[in-house]
Amino acid sequence: MDKQMLAMLVCPHCQGKLKYDRERGELKCYFDGLAYPVEDEIPVMLAEQARRMDADEKLAKTRSGAGEARDDAT
Ligand SMILES: [Zn+2]
Repeated sequence: MDKQMLAMLVCPHCQGKLKYDRERGELKCYFDGLAYPVEDEIPVMLAEQARRMDADEKLAKTRSGAGEARDDAT
Protein backbone atom coordinates (compact mmCIF):
# COMPACT_ATOMS: atom_id res chain seq x y z
CA MET A 1 0.00 0.00 0.00
CA ASP A 2 1.10 3.50 -0.84
CA LYS A 3 2.85 5.23 2.05
CA GLN A 4 1.43 8.64 1.27
CA MET A 5 -2.06 7.25 1.25
CA LEU A 6 -1.41 5.52 4.52
CA ALA A 7 -0.21 8.77 6.10
CA MET A 8 -3.49 10.43 5.21
CA LEU A 9 -5.65 7.78 6.78
CA VAL A 10 -6.89 8.11 10.30
CA CYS A 11 -9.14 5.98 12.42
CA PRO A 12 -12.78 7.00 11.90
CA HIS A 13 -13.36 6.43 15.61
CA CYS A 14 -10.61 8.32 17.38
CA GLN A 15 -8.97 10.17 14.44
CA GLY A 16 -5.75 8.55 15.52
CA LYS A 17 -2.95 7.21 13.39
CA LEU A 18 -3.28 3.78 11.90
CA LYS A 19 -0.59 1.20 11.53
CA TYR A 20 -0.49 -0.99 8.46
CA ASP A 21 -0.05 -4.68 9.10
CA ARG A 22 1.38 -5.99 5.86
CA GLU A 23 1.13 -9.64 6.85
CA ARG A 24 -2.55 -9.51 7.65
CA GLY A 25 -3.47 -6.81 5.20
CA GLU A 26 -5.11 -4.71 7.88
CA LEU A 27 -4.93 -1.18 9.18
CA LYS A 28 -4.81 -1.23 12.93
CA CYS A 29 -5.85 1.32 15.48
CA TYR A 30 -4.21 0.26 18.71
CA PHE A 31 -6.06 2.92 20.63
CA ASP A 32 -9.46 1.39 19.85
CA GLY A 33 -8.16 -2.11 19.33
CA LEU A 34 -9.69 -2.27 15.87
CA ALA A 35 -8.23 -3.67 12.68
CA TYR A 36 -9.66 -2.40 9.41
CA PRO A 37 -9.42 -4.70 6.40
CA VAL A 38 -7.65 -3.67 3.20
CA GLU A 39 -9.22 -5.17 0.11
CA ASP A 40 -7.39 -4.88 -3.21
CA GLU A 41 -5.25 -2.06 -1.80
CA ILE A 42 -8.40 -0.17 -0.75
CA PRO A 43 -8.77 0.34 2.97
CA VAL A 44 -12.25 -0.35 4.29
CA MET A 45 -12.66 2.30 6.96
CA LEU A 46 -15.91 1.08 8.43
CA ALA A 47 -16.27 0.22 12.07
CA GLU A 48 -18.78 -2.49 11.16
CA GLN A 49 -16.15 -4.18 8.99
CA ALA A 50 -13.35 -3.84 11.50
CA ARG A 51 -12.04 -6.76 13.45
CA ARG A 52 -11.55 -6.45 17.17
CA MET A 53 -8.05 -7.20 18.28
CA ASP A 54 -7.60 -9.28 21.37
CA ALA A 55 -5.50 -8.10 24.31
CA ASP A 56 -2.42 -10.02 23.23
CA GLU A 57 -2.52 -8.49 19.81
CA LYS A 58 -2.73 -5.00 21.21
CA LEU A 59 0.33 -5.70 23.33
CA ALA A 60 2.23 -6.82 20.25
CA LYS A 61 2.68 -3.18 19.41
CA THR A 62 5.06 -2.64 22.28
CA ARG A 63 6.80 -5.95 21.68
CA SER A 64 7.58 -5.31 18.03
CA GLY A 65 8.60 -1.76 18.99
CA ALA A 66 7.94 0.14 15.80
CA GLY A 67 9.34 3.31 17.36
CA GLU A 68 6.20 5.35 17.12
CA ALA A 69 5.74 8.50 19.12
CA ARG A 70 3.50 8.02 22.09
CA ASP A 71 0.56 10.27 21.42
CA ASP A 72 -2.14 8.12 22.98
CA ALA A 73 -2.86 10.63 25.72
CA THR A 74 -3.94 13.45 23.46
ZN1 LIG B 1 -9.17 4.55 16.65
